[in-house]
Amino acid sequence: MADKLTLEVVTPYGPVLKEEVDEVVAPGSEGEFGVLPGHVPFVTTLKIGMVVYKKGGSVAYLFANSGYAEVYDNTVLILADSAERAEDIDVERARAAMKRAEERLRKEAEIDFARAQAALERAMMRLQVAEKRGIK
Ligand code: ATP
Repeated sequence: MADKLTLEVVTPYGPVLKEEVDEVVAPGSEGEFGVLPGHVPFVTTLKIGMVVYKKGGSVAYLFANSGYAEVYDNTVLILADSAERAEDIDVERARAAMKRAEERLRKEAEIDFARAQAALERAMMRLQVAEKRGIK
């Protein structure tokens, strides 16, 4: 049994990361799940959330939009609608997206509520993940 996992994150915008790690925690639709080397294979859907991965003595954080995760052969493959490492999140952009979504939800009578709500959720989660920068 290998004692490492390969974490690979891919989005329609391109690959985000591929790294050897020790442990992954990801936001499954039915709740957070953790993967260690030797985990049984499974597939799950993901909700907007934070992926946390440990490597050596350090911890790293990633924003993941909805999508899928597949665990097989000591690999965690995340196929997300969008994803960014904590360091790569543009905080001003996320704040602006949050403001836009809040204004839509507040003002407009005829809006696509679910769409605005999801945009707000993405922006808030990006800000939460960005706060983790530099935390080891
Ligand atoms: P926005 O309204 O700012 O575009 P969004 O939530 O609609 O935000 P997404 O559809 O999730 O954006 O992502 C579109 C692309 O933009 C992806 O490549 C994603 O990684 C990138 N992206 C979106 N917001 C940010 C951000 N705050 N920082 C860095 N990259 C971002």
